[in-house]
Amino acid sequence: MGARLLLRWMVDQAKVKAFVADCRRHVAGELRDDLYTRVLYSTDASLYQVMPHAVVIPRTIEDVIAAVALAAEYGLPVLPRGAGTSLAGQAVNEALIIDFTRHLDAIVEINPDERWVRVQPGVVVDDLNASLRPHSLQFGPDPASSDRSTVGGMVANNATGSHSLLYGMTADHVQAMEVVLADGSRLALPPSANPTGGNIRVVTGIKELIADSANRQIIREGTPHYWRRCGGYNLDRLMTSDTPNLAQLVCGSEGTLAVMTEITLGLVPRPAHTGLALVHFDDLPTALAAVPAMLETQPAAVELIDHLSLTLCRDVLAYARLLASVVDGHPYCLLVVEFQGDDEAAVADGIQQLEERLRRGRLGASHVTRALTPEAQRAVWGVRKAGLGLLMSMKGDVKPVPFIEDAAVPVAHLSTYVSQIEAYCAELGTPVTYYAHAGAGCLHIRPLINRRRAAEVARLPDIARFAAGLVHGYGGAISSEHGDGRARSWLNESFYGPQLYDLFRQVKRIFDPQNRLNPGIIVEAASMTEAMRALPEAPDESRVWFGDYERIDGQILRIAKQGNTHSQSTTAGPGGSNPASSAPASGFVRAVEMCNGAGVCRRLTTGTMCPSFMVTRDEEHSTRGRANALRAALSGVLPAAELTSPRMAATMDLCISCKACKAECPSAVDMARLKSAFLVRYYAVHGVPLRARFFGHAATLNRLGSGRMAPATNAVLRSRLGRRLAARVLGLAPERPLPLLAREPFAAWWGRRSSAPALPDGEAVMLLIDPFTNYNHPEVGIAAVEFLTAVGVAVVAALCADDGRALISKGLMGAARRTAAQVVDALTPAAEQGLLIVGLEPSGLLTLRDEYFHLLPDDPRVALVAGQARTFEEYVDELAARLDLLPYFNAVPRRVLLHGHCHQKALVGTGPARRALSLPPGYTVEEVDSGCCGMAGSFGYEAEHYAISMQMGERRLLPAVRAAATGTIIAAAGVSCREQIAQGSGRTALHPAQILRDALRQDFRG
Ligand SMILES: Cc1cc2nc3c(=O)[nH]c(=O)nc-3n(C[C@H](O)[C@H](O)[C@H](O)COP(=O)(O)OP(=O)(O)OC[C@H]3O[C@@H](n4cnc5c(N)ncnc54)[C@H](O)[C@@H]3O)c2cc1C
Ligand code: SF4
Ligand code: SF4
Repeated sequence: MGARLLLRWMVDQAKVKAFVADCRRHVAGELRDDLYTRVLYSTDASLYQVMPHAVVIPRTIEDVIAAVALAAEYGLPVLPRGAGTSLAGQAVNEALIIDFTRHLDAIVEINPDERWVRVQPGVVVDDLNASLRPHSLQFGPDPASSDRSTVGGMVANNATGSHSLLYGMTADHVQAMEVVLADGSRLALPPSANPTGGNIRVVTGIKELIADSANRQIIREGTPHYWRRCGGYNLDRLMTSDTPNLAQLVCGSEGTLAVMTEITLGLVPRPAHTGLALVHFDDLPTALAAVPAMLETQPAAVELIDHLSLTLCRDVLAYARLLASVVDGHPYCLLVVEFQGDDEAAVADGIQQLEERLRRGRLGASHVTRALTPEAQRAVWGVRKAGLGLLMSMKGDVKPVPFIEDAAVPVAHLSTYVSQIEAYCAELGTPVTYYAHAGAGCLHIRPLINRRRAAEVARLPDIARFAAGLVHGYGGAISSEHGDGRARSWLNESFYGPQLYDLFRQVKRIFDPQNRLNPGIIVEAASMTEAMRALPEAPDESRVWFGDYERIDGQILRIAKQGNTHSQSTTAGPGGSNPASSAPASGFVRAVEMCNGAGVCRRLTTGTMCPSFMVTRDEEHSTRGRANALRAALSGVLPAAELTSPRMAATMDLCISCKACKAECPSAVDMARLKSAFLVRYYAVHGVPLRARFFGHAATLNRLGSGRMAPATNAVLRSRLGRRLAARVLGLAPERPLPLLAREPFAAWWGRRSSAPALPDGEAVMLLIDPFTNYNHPEVGIAAVEFLTAVGVAVVAALCADDGRALISKGLMGAARRTAAQVVDALTPAAEQGLLIVGLEPSGLLTLRDEYFHLLPDDPRVALVAGQARTFEEYVDELAARLDLLPYFNAVPRRVLLHGHCHQKALVGTGPARRALSLPPGYTVEEVDSGCCGMAGSFGYEAEHYAISMQMGERRLLPAVRAAATGTIIAAAGVSCREQIAQGSGRTALHPAQILRDALRQDFRG
């Protein structure tokens, strides 16, 4: 770095410091300028990475005004931000970021009669729609990211989605807004008839610009006529009325004109009935050529699920199941065509018209299937939404890269446009992927690029220019929903022409004369290859996770010890060297890189991922935040020593290893495993804490304390002194009683069973008894034996062993590996005999099917054992398919409220548990969409985690349990879940084995 640049950087730093100090005095919300926070906000879902100066998390609109005004005083740029799911790079900048998502997400007023709603910008779109549901209304545009993206982000991107044919763009529904201008002054849009004060400059400036007839001519001629468009500034929208609504100009302005603080949106009725036709095609050009004719039948949406998405979906069990239920055979691609209507007949009529049109036009469809039930439609949309994530989950360096994916052309040209892009990219040797909104002429085309190869990166601008040229020729738009950002703003001058581009510049100057709001976006952009996201050094083709520790730990330790200063400096600053040049290269790197920033882990109301974000709503405690922090340390954005720093440990701390991300993140980022890998490295530098050893080796301790010693141990555990000691020495929460130990562990009960049956010809299984069942809750194991025996299944053996789950969660991988080896040794003979191995604790049993492959990568017996391993519920479900179990049950009707264990949900789903619990006649099972119970093994017992653990439970599970009628059976297979339910609600939850045993007819009970 030259001396002048260095000097400027130092001045900037001083300015930021002074600003931060001043801002803290004026803002009630949080202001963070630490390196980690800046790293966490330096990425979005795009290719780009830019370090912000600081992040403010305002509590009130007054905070926003104060922060913007102060930033203006100090000459600092400002970037308002929602969920950071933008794909073009407009949600990152060297600026003060204002994060609206944490506190400014209120739904201020709903007016169902006039069909409008007034909201703060941070409200998540799906949450808004949930509040509108009782009024049978909704916000129309529906981006695929609606479960975490905010209204502010949608308006600023002028987003839309699958139903754009019906609802158009977000701007079509924006009626009014309150904004803060770059100098901190407020403005209501549309303005009052006679605006006063400083803001009159903006209002009259834009009005004059629009009134000029030459300008009107430029706008008319330069603006693409295609309706699906969000690039540039919406000047054309101001020309349709004598009283232009300036709010329309802020729509799609990507945070560059004003900071929105309140938005009024028009609403549309929720469709009464919908149905889908899945039109199967044997090739893509035929499918695309059929779209214009399909549109004649007035569908609500026509979406493409392309070949690659279908293939990838078939590889993911959950999606493969969804697909199988709605797709016939193996089509090359599908067009999903939605019809809406006031009743089912209207929907059926629409589909019939489509089928007739396809037949009449000989449009080449091989087949049409229908998805008419809500479940079937959810399955189809689930696959469609998963498409992008699955594409992004492609392993290796070659990834589908978003930069031309947002172009839209009139549908008549779509097939030709796509063929031309494909041919151009083929010439360059670059394959492409496709998905999405075929009916609206916006096919998301993503070339597959290896960003580690400079030559391939150099192709990006050429491909972008070529695509823009085609789109221009067809009268389409280069940005049709994701915005311009860094990926497309650089093309704006050539795409819109110098005259219209100059008007864009004038708009920017009128609103933001000092260029303070999200600078470099839409106008005055840098090259598209600038500020690309830092990548870790090229990783080896490592297929293992834990097996590579020895190889890489020494290297990491060396780096850590060389510079383990945890300093606040960053290599992104001047003269910073890149410690990543010596960073580890392994499966760990690849696994971290799987996170593409799409932000599904920021969902708040559905699913389980990510419990810590759901409670804290803090980016740092999302899966994305953790992956970003790790990537930064691997790629040199953070010093490499941070890979083992206490600050990184704090980022990992609230990850409860629930594995929800492994199942729910479309890229299957497995943070639980990454955390274990991190802990190994961390302990190597800082030592293993006593508490980790205590919980990791709980099985051994429980063995020593149970049986004859149980009365004494329990007395100590429950005594005041014992609890105080546990709190002081181990840092356990005094509010949490530790589970009591059994006087007669399961192993002892099993040992004194008089007649273990000999190996029979019929059904026989081996039980795997985990330490909790053995030492704390033998009644669960006994119930399982009694149930299985009663229905004619011989339990020929019961292995009471530590499965290593607790060791893995605590990052004690050496001990976990040894334990895994012992378990595999012990189980292999049974597995070789073909015996099924049935486990009661989902997390323990599923460890055999998941982690053991990584713990013992070279042991072929793992696959054999894993292939025979079943959870109790899976086994009963399978058994019920072979045997009629009905005669064994009594006929007393009961309601069952089922809470699934996180690992169970992540790895096998709760379907088997639901089906198993529904076996007794008259049993109705309702599942709580409970997320994580919050106990998560030892997490909830730890003093500093107690409160957050309870908050996790209180989100959905505990209220649902409390609300369950007396007499409802609460079912939970996980021991921690049952403990959390007992402590948090006072209700007793039972293991499914106990429930099924209790449902047996009296004459079958032993
Ligand atoms: C997997 C995936 C699928 C997607 N699918 C779609 C899709 O189908 N359709 C679609 O349109 N988009 C889609 N997107 C892009 C993106 O999710 C949406 O455009 C979304 O609306 C952005 O919302 P956000 O809250 O994440 O905004 P952010 O990304 O945080 O911000 C977006 C822009 O809004 C500005 N902004 C945010 N708040 C304010 C404010 N208060 N005042 C002024 N400016 C503000 C920011 O400065 C930024 O320029 C997708 C993204 C992903 C990752
Ligand atoms: S962790 Fe998964 S869901 Fe979250 S941002 Fe990364 S890829 Fe998306
Ligand atoms: S394992 Fe659970 S807590 Fe950890 S990042 Fe994944 S979803 Fe979040």
